[in-house]
Parts: sequence; C-alpha cells; structure tokens
Amino acid sequence: MSIILSGAPVASALRERIKNKTENLKAQGVYPTLAVLSVGEEGDNEAYLRGLSKQAEACGIDLLSENLPADASQSRAEEALRELGNDPAIHGILLLRPLPKSLNETALCRLIPPEKDVDCATDLSLAGVFSHRQLGFPPATPRGVMEILAHYEIPLAGKRAVIVGRSLVVGRPLAMMLLKEDATVTLCHSKTENLEEICRQADILVAALGRPRALSRGCFRPGQVLVDVGIHRLEDGSLCGDLDFGAAEPLAEAITPVPGGVGTVTTAVLLSHVITAAENNIL
Ligand code: NAP
Repeated sequence: MSIILSGAPVASALRERIKNKTENLKAQGVYPTLAVLSVGEEGDNEAYLRGLSKQAEACGIDLLSENLPADASQSRAEEALRELGNDPAIHGILLLRPLPKSLNETALCRLIPPEKDVDCATDLSLAGVFSHRQLGFPPATPRGVMEILAHYEIPLAGKRAVIVGRSLVVGRPLAMMLLKEDATVTLCHSKTENLEEICRQADILVAALGRPRALSRGCFRPGQVLVDVGIHRLEDGSLCGDLDFGAAEPLAEAITPVPGGVGTVTTAVLLSHVITAAENNIL
C-alpha cells in the first residue's frame, strides 16, 4: 500500500500561511493585488480564472481581471501590460496563455516587470531558477512539486531523481530545484534511449511528458516516490496523468494522484508569489 501524496493538505497549509501574511500586509496598508490579463477566449482560461478568483478571495488577495478582445493588436496588449507594470497598486501580473497566434508572446512577456512576474514569464525569472538567485519568481508547477515533496518530508539529498520531460515550464526548472536540494538529477525526453531502465533507477520519478498514462509497468520498481505532473481528460470524461496509476500504485512507496495531486497546489503557489511580491514592495 503506497502513501497517497494528496495535494489538498499541501495547498491548505500554503493558503493558511498566505492568509496570515495577507493580514499582516493589510495592517500595514498594503492590499496584495494580482492582475490577470487575457486575450480572447483561448483554451479553458475562463474555468481557470474562476478557480483562481475563488482561491484569491479566500486568501484575501484582490484579483483584477482584464480581458482584451481576440483581435486585439500587439500594441493594445503591450499598452495594457505597461499600464499594469507601472501601477504601484498591482503586485503580481499573470498573462494567461495560450495567446491568439497573431500576438508576439515573447515580446509581451518581456514587458512584465520581473518583480511582478509571479509565474515566471520572463527570462530573468528563469535565470533566477537556474542560478538559484532571487530574481523574479519560479514557475508555479515545479514549485508545487517541491512543496508536495517538502510537505510529506520526502528526503531529496543524495537521492536519484529522474524527470521525464524537459520543457521550460516544468521539467528543466524542476531539475534545477531538485539539484538545489542535492538530489542527483537525470532529465529525460523524447529522444532518450532505454527510458524504462532509467526510470526504474529513480528513487524519485517525475512524469511531465504530456502523454496520458505513458509511463507504465516497465518504468517502476518497488519503493519509488512517483510524482505525476500530467493531467488529461479522457473520452469518457475522466481525468488521468502521465503515469499509469493502476500499475504504479501497488509498487510505489508514495505517489501523487490525478486529479488531486500537483494541479491542486499550483494556484496556491502562485498566490504565495503575489504575497512575496507585495512584501518585497515594502522592504
Ligand atoms: P511539453 O512542453 O509538451 O513538454 C513535454 C516534454 O516531454 C518534452 O520535453 C518532450 O521531449 C517530452 N516527451 C514527450 N513525449 C515523450 C516520450 N514519449 N518519452 C519521453 N519524453 C517525452 O509539456 P509541459 O508543458 O512540460 O507539460 C508536461 C505535462 O504537465 C503535461 O501533461 C501538462 O498537461 C502537465 N502540466 C500540468 C500542470 C499542472 O498544474 N498540474 C501545469 C503545466 C503542465 P522533447 O523535448 O524531446 O520534445
């Protein structure tokens, strides 16, 4: 029987810490505020915004949401970001992606001041993750993974961590975070040879490859800690991750569920960044 590394208690503990800090900030006249800019109605942005807004309200954080029409020009989107960047009452800025293809995402991300870049949209934030320095903010999803591992007191120092997926939003920043905690890290990708064998060598195996149930029986051995970052909706409406949970769970020492694992923690992490940004503002 493995330990289920549920995200709910992790998110709940994070939200409690956020609420305490929000009260402290408000006592000093600072009202932590997150601005969310979206363009058109891409992906499932609306559902995401509803969830974010509910959690922000529960934590006492103000959320300002601005939606530009789908045919908004590059200069209109840039103007909106400049205004948010220059507004001292805004502590964090989130640019919802995907954006309409007509917009230059890289150029827009560059307009977010690093001190307000609460979800690592800028190169400086990413540089901070790679250099282990306090520059901007790390991406919320890999930070969520680290919060789960810390909450359940999973030892990392000296352990072999294998991450499947090398994207700039999940795999690569997570590798840097695990390295900072003295894990020995292997990053795998679509060209990796002997993937199953490498996965079996892991003490901590993270699936972040964006393929439903892609890591199956041959990737696991008894006693591993398994973290599933993936989330997919299947044809029957159910959700699954990048790991074959049915094959993994009987062997694992501990495993994150999908749903109810990493995805549950990421919004709380993002809001914790807004609080840090507001605190930094009064230092
Ligand atoms: P991504 O940008 O598509 O990157 C996928 C990575 O997996 C790439 O590095 C790719 O290798 C690698 N890969 C793909 N197929 C592979 C295979 N068969 N064997 C080995 N490696 C393979 O995906 P992402 O944005 O990082 O997202 C990864 C997963 O996390 C997705 O399931 C996504 O839904 C999920 N996600 C969850 C959250 C959350 O809050 N829970 C947030 C963001 C993402 P190459 O580099 O060689 O192409």
